[in-house]
Amino acid sequence: MPARTPSSRYELVRLGNPVLRKKAKRVPLSFLATQEFKHLHTALMRIMRTADGVGLAAPQIDVSLRIAVIETRPTETRPSLTQKGPVLMVNPRILSCSERMSTDWEGCLSFKPLRGRVRRPHSVVVEYWNEHGERIEERTSGLWARIVQHEIDHLDGIVYVDRMDDMKSLMLLDEFKERIVRS
Ligand code: ZN
Repeated sequence: MPARTPSSRYELVRLGNPVLRKKAKRVPLSFLATQEFKHLHTALMRIMRTADGVGLAAPQIDVSLRIAVIETRPTETRPSLTQKGPVLMVNPRILSCSERMSTDWEGCLSFKPLRGRVRRPHSVVVEYWNEHGERIEERTSGLWARIVQHEIDHLDGIVYVDRMDDMKSLMLLDEFKERIVRS
């Protein structure tokens, strides 16, 4: 029997669960020193990687706190992605956005069988606290900026389909793999 870690009690919740539509609570920095935070951090990383995702917000595992993790690596739907991260963001906030917008495909571990095109600012300046309680402020662009915005949306009860200008681009993941990833 594998040892059961406390982080194993966390599980992905799916669209329809009201926690995904709630505004998550700000995290007091004293929480970062607790065992509960360490278990939550471990669970977020484990579940994101197991599900082959590039980001995961705490509400997606039924914890309504302003915490998210991001890590890029080659995935099934983005085989040419490079390794970056992992990064844990506590109380992340967009400080400014570029006027330049870009449109790209997004998916979500809370309703995995779908993909849709979403228009977002191409680059953002984001502020957050890392797992050591250090304040980070950085400008980021491209896919990383997109993931940051997607995860912060989760902390505000927003999912990417809310941001789609044209719902006609919505497609099933199998069709996406067939038509977009392979093309
Ligand atoms: Zn998502």
